[in-house]
Amino acid sequence: MTDSLVNYLTIDVEDYFQVAAFEKLIQPSTWESYPSRVVQNTTKILDIFDAYGVKGTFFVVGWTAERFPGLVQDIVERGHEIGCHSYQHQKIYNQTPEVFRQDTKRAKDILEQTSGRAIVGYRAPTYSITKKSLWALDILEELGFKWDSSIFPIVHDNYGIPDAPRFAHKLPIHNLIEYPISTALFFGRKIPVAGGGYFRIFPYWFSKLALAKINKEEKQPFIFYLHPWEIDPDQPRIVSAGWKSRFRHYYNLNTTEIRLKNLLQDFRFGPITDIPVLTSA
Ligand SMILES: [Zn+2]
Repeated sequence: MTDSLVNYLTIDVEDYFQVAAFEKLIQPSTWESYPSRVVQNTTKILDIFDAYGVKGTFFVVGWTAERFPGLVQDIVERGHEIGCHSYQHQKIYNQTPEVFRQDTKRAKDILEQTSGRAIVGYRAPTYSITKKSLWALDILEELGFKWDSSIFPIVHDNYGIPDAPRFAHKLPIHNLIEYPISTALFFGRKIPVAGGGYFRIFPYWFSKLALAKINKEEKQPFIFYLHPWEIDPDQPRIVSAGWKSRFRHYYNLNTTEIRLKNLLQDFRFGPITDIPVLTSA
């Protein structure tokens, strides 16, 4: 164990054909025609978590929960937390507030029915709460959410509020706790290291060093995230996607599972819950 701090382990439960990298090629109306792999991949992650004795928070897409309620029940029965990852997995800043409200309410209702729990945590598709879509926080509060984990404090083409606080904090004008996606500081620069494509691109030794730096030097827990399709090297390939999308989606899929196991060995983890441990942001 690198440090005694308990970090946050989060999984965004979605299928390989629902991601933003392929959104121009695959409309939600055609999702049914793709062979789903989310149940087998999430079950694999649940088995790994059981083997390492760790609990996490699973943000589930409402469309997926509606079709696979048994998966949501399995996550709950194995002792994990359920959060909301929208109904239709579209970027928030491309929606009107009314469309966002309907999408989020629909997902929250389905997740509450399938899990038997109050759903109070939210993560935006593609971390799409940016300065253009801060109104989404008003709606999350209105719908009864208690916390959010959607703001990525970096510069990126799809997401990010570069000057947002880097650690968990109460949002200034909302009754919500924000758990930002973690970054590590190197020479004053914020480097995204805590999951997804970054975890696949950087060699494991670097991810470990950077995440340990957050625990040791800043005395803060980090928030790690992964998607079920990231441990599935055999998923069908979307061959018509451009090189950037293909790189972001397919790079190092075959090494993610072993890296995840190393991570679970090297750090302590727990879920984000509705009883937040607040740190000074
Ligand atoms: Zn997602």
